[in-house]
Order: sequence, then C-alpha cells, then structure tokens
Amino acid sequence: MVTRADIGVIGGSGFYSLLDDAEEIQLATPYGPPSDVVTVGRIGSRSVAFIPRHGRDHRFPPHRIPYRANLWALRSLGVRQVLAPSAVGSLRAEYGPGAMVIPDQLVDRTSGRVQTYYDIDGAVHVSFADPYCPSGRAAAVRTARSGGWATVDGGTLVVIEGPRFSTRAESQWFAGNGWSIVGMTGFPEAILARELALCYTSLSLVTDHDAGVEAGQGVTHDEVLEFFAQNVTRMRTLVADTVQALPHERACSCGSALDGIKLPFELP
Ligand SMILES: [Zn+2]
Repeated sequence: MVTRADIGVIGGSGFYSLLDDAEEIQLATPYGPPSDVVTVGRIGSRSVAFIPRHGRDHRFPPHRIPYRANLWALRSLGVRQVLAPSAVGSLRAEYGPGAMVIPDQLVDRTSGRVQTYYDIDGAVHVSFADPYCPSGRAAAVRTARSGGWATVDGGTLVVIEGPRFSTRAESQWFAGNGWSIVGMTGFPEAILARELALCYTSLSLVTDHDAGVEAGQGVTHDEVLEFFAQNVTRMRTLVADTVQALPHERACSCGSALDGIKLPFELP
C-alpha cells in the first residue's frame, strides 16, 4: 500500500512524538529533497505527514530551507491541508510572550528566495489576496481558545529575510504600519502552498517582543530557543487538537486556486 496523508505539519522537531504508527519516508522531488525524511502517522482518525522545517538537526537556517521541496513532498503524499506552527516576535506591547496569533495577512520582506513553482514555460498568476485558509484559521482559533491560549484572531505577519533580527527602526516601521508579528519562515511557505492549491494555516507563537516595541530590549537567539522549548508540549497539544478540528471535506476556496489556469506541468 502506498503511504498517504491528508494533513501536513511543517514545524519544529518537537513535533515528532505527535504521531502514532509513524513511518519515515525518504522523498525526492523535482526541487531536491525536503528538509528531512517525512514522518507519516496518525493523530486520532487523521493521517498526518510531518516535516521538520529546519531539518532534524536544525541544519537549514530560514533563508536556506527547501520550501519548494517541502510543500511538493506533502502534496505528493496526498496532503491538502497544511498547519505551520512557528515562533515569532511581537510588534505590539499587548501581545506578550505566550500569545498565539493566527494571522490573516502577510507582508513579504524577504529577498532572494525562490517563491514560485512556475518559473518556466509561461506565467502562472495565483491570487494571494487572502494568504491563509479561512477554515484552517477558524479551527486553529477555536482550538487555541478552548485550550486556554491568549489567542489573537487575525493580524499581519511580516516575514523578514533573516537570519539577523530586525533593527529598532525596521521594527518601529513595521509596527507603525499596523502589522502584528515578525517571523522568518512564513514566506514563501504560504505562497508555495497556494500555488499547489493547498490550505495553509499559520500558528504563530509569540516568544518575545521585537526590538522596536517599547517593552522589548531586542531579541537574542537563546531567548527565543529557551522560550520555545518551554512551550513545546503546549504547542504539540495545540497542533494535535487543531489537526483533529480541521474539516474532513474542504469547503474553502484554497482547492480551486488554480482553476482555469493552464499549468506548465501536472501537480503530484
Ligand atoms: Zn482552505
């Protein structure tokens, strides 16, 4: 029997223990290998494929992650809905460490990352006005709230190139635009998911205040890692519960993102 999964999770290596009856699959894609072997297993009645975004040994910094291979690998396993937990900095004093933000908008401040599958044989223009899946977002918000998280429904995630953190001026500029949180991995992950007609939902855990926020002194890598480690178990529970809260049949428009568009190749 060919191994299949309905739901994909791209996250930190703390998520391995999520899966029952886990099987590891080495996958090749036209874009090279994904970040690591893909682990496929079950959470309750749902079949789930997990990819550690940075690799099991954390060898890929945000700007070197094989984003295209990761999403392609998930789709080729049958995945149609993706959950993307990650750590972010807060641009607002009122969203402190431990807040769970389920963003509904995104600003791309990355540079030099390949952000499309369709870079040969003509242009494919995919709508990205609303980058996240409304059904996935609703499931995540509901689940986080019932799990006792301080949950923010909506907001704008700014994705910076990294690996450095923001300057104080950059951070104040982002905040001044009304944007909510800053991360390094949410793009091009979100657009690549859309280009494959996948549902994509970001679960953004605030680990600290960004440099420009009044409460913040600026961020160190150690602080981020320490905070995230403290919250691994909580995050794992949230992701597992959200997986089970996702709809069995998609009623959102994510699956029709490519309708009427002539693709230069067939999707897996
Ligand atoms: Zn969707």
